[in-house]
Amino acid sequence: MNKNIKEEQPNVNVKLTDSTAIRCEKCDCEAFVEGMLLRKVPKLIAGTPQDALVPLPTFACSQCGHVNKAFYPKGLPTE
Ligand SMILES: [Zn+2]
Repeated sequence: MNKNIKEEQPNVNVKLTDSTAIRCEKCDCEAFVEGMLLRKVPKLIAGTPQDALVPLPTFACSQCGHVNKAFYPKGLPTE
């Protein structure tokens, strides 16, 4: 289920000097906190008695709470 996320995990041998900072698109902050996106799937599609909630782990800016577009799972519609 989380196959895509696993494939994006970095190689542990990568040197930090080869990396670049990711900044918040809104306030330029470099620090992020773990967050959780919640997607609701209508019960008719999920095949469950009630609407299903799908949690998707992501990162949010620690200052303004903004989630960069790059942190949304692929294929997710971003409004
Ligand atoms: Zn921010």
